[in-house]
Amino acid sequence: MSRIISSAAIRGAHRLVRKAEEKWRQAMDAKGPSEPVEFPNTGYYLPVIYGLTGRKVQRLSDLEPVLGLCRELLPEEPKEHLWTPYLGTALDAGVATLFAEETIEAMRYVMGPNPVEGIWLGAADDVILRERGIEFVDGRAPGFAAVVGAAPDAATAVRMAKEMQQKNLYIFMAGQTRGMQFAQQLAEAGEDLGWNTRLVPYGMEIEAQIYSLGFATRAALSFGGVAPGDYQGVLRYNKNRIFAFVIALGEVTDEWYATAAGAISYGFPTIADTPIPQILPTGVCTYEHVVSDVPHDKIVAKAVEVRGLKVAAPKLKLPVAFGPAFEGEIIRRADTFVQIGGNESPAFELVRMRELSEVEDGKIEIIGPDLDGAAAGKLPLATIVDVAGRKMNEDFEPVLERRLHDFINYLEGVTHNAQRDILRIRVNHKARAAGLSLRHFGEMIYAEMKSEYQSVVDKVQITFLTEEAAVLARREEARRAYAARDARIASLTDDTVEEFYTCTLCQSFAPNHVCIVAPERIGLCGSVNWFDAKAANQLKPGGANVPVYRGEVIDALRGEYAGINEMVKTNSHGTLEALNLYSMMENPMTSCGCFEVILAVVPEGNGVLAVNREHTGMTPTGMKFSTMAGMVGGGMQTPGFMGVGKHYLTSKKFIQADGGLLRIIWMPKQLKELLREGLERRAAELGVPDFLDRIADEDVGATAEEILPFLEEKGHPALTMDPIM
Ligand code: SF4
Ligand code: ZN
Repeated sequence: MSRIISSAAIRGAHRLVRKAEEKWRQAMDAKGPSEPVEFPNTGYYLPVIYGLTGRKVQRLSDLEPVLGLCRELLPEEPKEHLWTPYLGTALDAGVATLFAEETIEAMRYVMGPNPVEGIWLGAADDVILRERGIEFVDGRAPGFAAVVGAAPDAATAVRMAKEMQQKNLYIFMAGQTRGMQFAQQLAEAGEDLGWNTRLVPYGMEIEAQIYSLGFATRAALSFGGVAPGDYQGVLRYNKNRIFAFVIALGEVTDEWYATAAGAISYGFPTIADTPIPQILPTGVCTYEHVVSDVPHDKIVAKAVEVRGLKVAAPKLKLPVAFGPAFEGEIIRRADTFVQIGGNESPAFELVRMRELSEVEDGKIEIIGPDLDGAAAGKLPLATIVDVAGRKMNEDFEPVLERRLHDFINYLEGVTHNAQRDILRIRVNHKARAAGLSLRHFGEMIYAEMKSEYQSVVDKVQITFLTEEAAVLARREEARRAYAARDARIASLTDDTVEEFYTCTLCQSFAPNHVCIVAPERIGLCGSVNWFDAKAANQLKPGGANVPVYRGEVIDALRGEYAGINEMVKTNSHGTLEALNLYSMMENPMTSCGCFEVILAVVPEGNGVLAVNREHTGMTPTGMKFSTMAGMVGGGMQTPGFMGVGKHYLTSKKFIQADGGLLRIIWMPKQLKELLREGLERRAAELGVPDFLDRIADEDVGATAEEILPFLEEKGHPALTMDPIM
């Protein structure tokens, strides 16, 4: 880092710390020291401050020592010719800047104007952190670009954004150049902004970039298992695991330099499009921290190179961009050129296993009109994917079929919802104008199937039918196949299969966690069922899913088996001795952090509550989901609490040792509705067909006292069961 940059960073840091002090003082005068301070729906307080110092800022008065720390960190303000700053002082100034910026943003939540306004999203809550952060862990997103300022024009902004999306990066935007921000340029050009498209506009001012670092800090705490206050751990996790960089567009102000110095501590370099005076570094640099004067068509490539990100080159040539970054697009009715399925035309998709001799590898056939021949914006469609391979197995059909959803969604300008014969595909006008055809769907499916499933798929052939009569005729065949598969799954019970499967995918961030996936107990993330685990084991033996055999029965009701105990002990590296599959009260399954639902005992009601991740309100344990998540996660056994997949609630084996489904006394309405069909079926089997109406929800109350009279009035079965504790 050059001396000029260091001096500028220190000046900027002083200005931002002064601003933070002023804003805090104003808030103190207006609201008093005990006024609550928080970012919405997070268990991480003000995350940068919490992560780096361990301080839980909850009220205005808690910020006083933080601002004091800023002052301590700040080196003397540089004076011309007298001061020779070096990297260390500039980095301290950078960290002071981050605390100051987080304070300034927090004061916006306290005093207004609220950071969430117009296109600006403000701080991401913990639901988003979970959903999106996991992509940083499993590699779906290699990292993020923090874009500061604005491109020279909207077209350049769009080109740059596409290039970054194509590399699956998230793009976090804040900080303006002369009244304009990159995100505004994208919005102006008609781009969809939001977490789903990975184009995340945080705010107009440079301070709002703190949300990028807040996100990175929370990733280290939640996925990296770093303890709050272990600042070296937080910074190391980010330097090694999160590929992020700052792109500075337009004139770089002192405040930007100060923020860049903060980002450097996280290992995130800055790449600028303007010339920055180059004076030889006086500090020790392991790689280039600041790269300047890079032309716009090279800047993304340069950033990727400087940060050392390895991005696989796209293997396909298609008229639109593609990749997981486009999965979350939303295509509104008005932007739709053609809709396939979704009650407007018959549509289905089917993956069929065939003999090797029956499949012509790489053949893509379209029978009937292509997308541009759609009448009145509708098109019937049958997508039939025939696969063959020496190691292919019928059980893989649904696993491969479910991936069609991802592959088609990868195309920019195309969305795919649901599956089987209830799917809906939309193609927007832009994609159509670019020349997108069903052939490209086929090429995408072919390339992905061959690369992702090369161990079992030797040949793939794809047929699209778009004549309504033909689609209807073939749909019968597809429905027979779906029904046969469903019957197979329904007939499977824990007692009729030989083996269960482990899942240790989440050990990347919860090192001792292991899920046991059984036919009647889906993985707690809700996305790995027994078939998936079995297929994954065959697709990649020795991977995260390996078979477990029960061995000697220790207790059938609790679901305790010698073989499982042994496996769990090994996989948890000796931290667990025993595991009961069907109890949450005694040696329950551990939770990594991905659970869809948390179960928790409510002793006053002799029952259990189930709360889903989306429910942000209070629950009768006196804790919100996010608080309980902090207690339950991390791969420990927490008797009385357990994270589960939501469909486990409808299983016959649902906490059978603790009284089963009838123990549930409270759940949010949203969860009730989501699972209604399955819950009603189970309740009828248990002889209480109106059971759902006897479960309290947030309308009845959010404390044990509030719901007890309701449970009594309804004669809730849990009240007369054996004591749960
Ligand atoms: Fe596997 Fe469990 Fe993680 Fe889901 S939550 S990915 S089942 S370890
Ligand atoms: Zn997990």
